[in-house]
Amino acid sequence: MTEAATLFSEAKRVIPGGVNSPVRSFSGVGGTPVFIDRAQGAYIYDSEGKAYIDYVGSWGPMILGHAHPAVIAAVKAAAEKGLSFGAPTEIETRMAEKVIELLPSVELIRMVSSGTEATMSAIRLARGYTGRDKIVKFEGCYHGHSDSLLVKAGSGALTFGVPSSPGVPNAVAENTITLTYNDSEAVAELFGQIGEQIACIIVEPVAGNMNCIPPVPGFLETLRKVCDQYGSVLIFDEVMTGFRVGLQGAQGVYNIKPDLTTLGKVIGGGMPVGAFGGSRKIMEILAPAGPVYQAGTLSGNPVAMAAGLATLELVQQPGFFEALGAKTRRLTSGLQAVADQAGIGFTTNAVGGMFGLFFSAKDKVTSFADVMQCDQERFKRFFHAMLAEGVYLAPSAFEAGFVSAAHSEQDLNSTIEKAALCFKALLKT
Ligand code: PMP
Repeated sequence: MTEAATLFSEAKRVIPGGVNSPVRSFSGVGGTPVFIDRAQGAYIYDSEGKAYIDYVGSWGPMILGHAHPAVIAAVKAAAEKGLSFGAPTEIETRMAEKVIELLPSVELIRMVSSGTEATMSAIRLARGYTGRDKIVKFEGCYHGHSDSLLVKAGSGALTFGVPSSPGVPNAVAENTITLTYNDSEAVAELFGQIGEQIACIIVEPVAGNMNCIPPVPGFLETLRKVCDQYGSVLIFDEVMTGFRVGLQGAQGVYNIKPDLTTLGKVIGGGMPVGAFGGSRKIMEILAPAGPVYQAGTLSGNPVAMAAGLATLELVQQPGFFEALGAKTRRLTSGLQAVADQAGIGFTTNAVGGMFGLFFSAKDKVTSFADVMQCDQERFKRFFHAMLAEGVYLAPSAFEAGFVSAAHSEQDLNSTIEKAALCFKALLKT
């Protein structure tokens, strides 16, 4: 037995499926998950000391690379002063000011401890604000695991939701309407029928939980338009895209102003942080200023705020996102070139520091249906071949990849060279 296999079997004895979050188990690709011991810069090191160039980055937060000295120093300094007080601290105000400075759509912001909490609370706020129950989401978009959002579509453009997990009451799921991502007509049609019953639309402005699918021109504009027309709240779930695709998130890249924004990942710099914010008019109905309840023992935790603030200060440096975007494009164009040389049907998407890899016969992947048609078996073999070569990609064909500021030109070139070998190997059987 390898050390990872021993650790995994020990974990399975005491943790459901051996992991604290399902996709970590390699259920999407088969095999035994790598157990991580430590990480530095662009590299993670497993329990046996093997190094991997990491394109998961803890699923997005590690935009500066792992264990960045400035972030670690900020965390150490905060920890020395105590881990949690459950009372106001100055750093919470500084963090709120920083996000408000960077995101023009945010006038007030509330900190929580995960992306799930952020989206769950934003939905409650939108319902409280509008006095309506129905919400709209898109198939293939993930917004955490609260009941209202753990709902997928059946067939057809307009589907009243069925739960995608046992334990989600039908009565809750019925209020979640799931439409097709990037289908503006379906949105306009639904709002034409029942727009005045809809509390909000929640959307990943660049979808990152069905691999990586950018919005087609006009899609986000349509969402803004129907929400304005029918008095519904537009929520951009920027848990993944916030401070990842650009300094102003996807709302800056596509120039659309949502009513509410949910954040997570990068704003915590690797610590458990989420946040939701938006227009003063809506945020002011939140307790204790208003009647919509929301709270958290560890919300605004000083150590987590220190990690997040140190991270935001660094991504704010001039040229940060230009350099990150250039690295990401260097990676995807390099991978495309070697796939083409090997004669493998392959295409990529990239926005800022976020990318998607697709084993597809199509030139461009723009929808959930396109993603579902990709060759998953090929992806699994590619994933394992790259892992053996020392490259850690997301262990699922339905997740986005992430480049960090710590990835060097040499890391990217080495990844592309390894991929060339792995693409060729795919054709051998
Ligand atoms: N929204 C989006 C867009 C996400 O990508 C995620 C997590 N991948 C979440 C919400 C949930 O965040 P968390 O895992 O921190 O609860």
